[in-house]
Amino acid sequence: MDTQVIVVGAGPVGLLLAAELRLGGVETVVLERLAAPSTASRASTLHARTMEFFDQRGLAAELGTPPNDGAGHFGGLPLDLGGLDTRYPGQWKVLQARTEELLHARATDLGARILRGHLVTGLRQHPDHVEVEAQGPAGPVRLRAAYLVGCDGEESTVRQLAGIDFPGAAADKELLRADVDGIDIPGRRFERFPTGMAVAARRPDGVTRVMVHEFAFRPAPRTGPPAFAEVAAAWARVTGEAIGHGTPLWVNAFDNTCRQAARYRLGRVLLAGDAAHQQMPVGGQALNLGLQDAANLGWKLAAEVRGRAPAGLLDSYHDERHPVAERVLAGITAQSHLLLGGAEVDGLRAVFAELLTLDGVAEHLASGIAGLDVRYPLGPGDHPLLGARLPAFELATGPQRGDVLRLLRTGRGLLLALSGDEDRTARLAAELRPWAGRVDLAAGWPGHGTGADLAGHDLLVRPDGHVVWADTSGALGPALLRWFGAPTGD
Ligand SMILES: Cc1cc2nc3c(=O)[nH]c(=O)nc-3n(C[C@H](O)[C@H](O)[C@H](O)COP(=O)(O)OP(=O)(O)OC[C@H]3O[C@@H](n4cnc5c(N)ncnc54)[C@H](O)[C@@H]3O)c2cc1C
Repeated sequence: MDTQVIVVGAGPVGLLLAAELRLGGVETVVLERLAAPSTASRASTLHARTMEFFDQRGLAAELGTPPNDGAGHFGGLPLDLGGLDTRYPGQWKVLQARTEELLHARATDLGARILRGHLVTGLRQHPDHVEVEAQGPAGPVRLRAAYLVGCDGEESTVRQLAGIDFPGAAADKELLRADVDGIDIPGRRFERFPTGMAVAARRPDGVTRVMVHEFAFRPAPRTGPPAFAEVAAAWARVTGEAIGHGTPLWVNAFDNTCRQAARYRLGRVLLAGDAAHQQMPVGGQALNLGLQDAANLGWKLAAEVRGRAPAGLLDSYHDERHPVAERVLAGITAQSHLLLGGAEVDGLRAVFAELLTLDGVAEHLASGIAGLDVRYPLGPGDHPLLGARLPAFELATGPQRGDVLRLLRTGRGLLLALSGDEDRTARLAAELRPWAGRVDLAAGWPGHGTGADLAGHDLLVRPDGHVVWADTSGALGPALLRWFGAPTGD
């Protein structure tokens, strides 16, 4: 075997996955067709759940304090994201190139090998390994590994070579975007005109990002970005303003194609990120959804490769993440109707705007966009945190206070003994001993804030930060076996 896992694609999802695999102690090679990292202007928003996960791994601090904007939207209708119950409310403005730089450093620091200039062209599955062919800078390359993960974007070669279906809906709506210098037009946020919708936002450097959609336009597949003249003409038709004299710095089009891989795993091949789901990048959810796939998959695949995974653990990646993306895609589809529909959606928009004023409705939609509402259907038991992510809180141990999320930096599981009962904690410690090296124990008392509600309970947390057992779920042993496998003394 040349390595244990091959990741195809050094986009944000492939890089985070490579880092997580290395944290789990697995040899990882990333094959990337581009010779150098992309500097293209793409996603610019990290949502709360992604920031929490970065915090769990000690990465959030490396981003400094990015600009934060609580003013979100749902299909163009204003939606506050700043009031959510998280350490990271709001939208964190981080350019995708910066996120990729951070994750690249993390993956390589942990020992992932990233081979650039390698275009994957072939793939064969065998009973005990997978073999991949790539065109490298010095000619064809053949590599073998136990598993391969396609993080190679929406056109995923891996998905096609593996023969995984990608059902869904083709685009029937399109938006044109451009960053333009030398124009002076009014700022507008999802402003509706009789024939279309327009957005204009001027950056501090004087460049204006314009985005325009014509209600009646039916897109055809494109082979490259639109000409700036096309954007300027659409802008003029919709708003009546001229921007054609400006200097375009970046021009791009995107549409409402909505597809999802039928399965995220086929034998020794898995998919994550845009390779697994293609969606309109409205509300900045596309990138965040993919990063959370990587967080879910990394530790499971590492356990599988190291022979520690209990039966079914690797398949739980599809079982957990496919429904999450299905729901996000449904939300994005709803938003695309509200945002890009013409006069026929005016009534729907009015009803939605009214609903958003009702108690709990805006919060419900906002926590979905932020990725905070993910609750995997895990049992037994009815503790409110079962399946949900562990919220951040201060943990007091004697006179010491520490941040509970720091305890997840190791990439191991975590048993939180919060009962304050020394005998009970000692019994848990004894029960946990055979899993030493896979699950850490921390005993203490939650400080003020969210954690105070947890006092008196014991919780088992997976390496991705999701709670899989509480003392109300019955005995601890079966949960340790289910998530961390039979103890082998390693
Ligand atoms: C123009 C544009 C604008 C966008 N704007 C937004 C936005 O505003 N908000 C938002 O949330 N999302 C946006 N997105 C989507 C967001 O960028 C993606 O969701 C995100 O990049 C997905 O990450 P990924 O790692 O899954 O895939 P990608 O970032 O697509 O990375 C895939 C990688 O795989 C490599 N690759 C592909 N095929 C092969 C092969 N055969 N062999 C080797 N390597 C290969 C590619 O070169 C690439 O580096 C935008 C996307 C585009 C294209």
